[in-house]
Amino acid sequence: MSAIDTLLQRRVSGPDHGAPEVPTPVPSLHVAVVTCMDARIKVFDVFGLAHGEVHILRNAGGVATDDVIRSLSISQRKLGTREIVIMQHTSCGLSMITEDSFKDEVEQDTGLRPPWAIEAFREVKDSVRQSMERVRRSPFLPHRDHVRGFVYDVATGGLTEVF
Ligand code: ZN
Repeated sequence: MSAIDTLLQRRVSGPDHGAPEVPTPVPSLHVAVVTCMDARIKVFDVFGLAHGEVHILRNAGGVATDDVIRSLSISQRKLGTREIVIMQHTSCGLSMITEDSFKDEVEQDTGLRPPWAIEAFREVKDSVRQSMERVRRSPFLPHRDHVRGFVYDVATGGLTEVF
């Protein structure tokens, strides 16, 4: 049995049989949260979130890539979000690899070198600042006045703002 089969079985006995009870796709707090896919980050718990309150965009690193900007543009223009949180974290996998080492590894295994940036970083605060800057300078986002960045400590649960 695969892990996906396990999930489907859980769903049969799980609580979410009815409608999601959120009447609109517009997040009620009008906030978008960009964060890493790291399984240790409990995004809902970190900010005490309820379903329907925010958009949550996750990728490796919690980086404002072109595709995240795409989602944020739709989030702001069509779904009413006005503020953006960038939350990266301690001991992120992206701080333990480099652009070249990862690309070399993939190229050696597959014969193809990825055309996309890995977005590896050494200092997480610098990476948060870079993503905040990309958002603030994006012509595709109409609302850029309320962009704040944070580092989440996966060991302690602490949250540190980055300026
Ligand atoms: Zn991470």
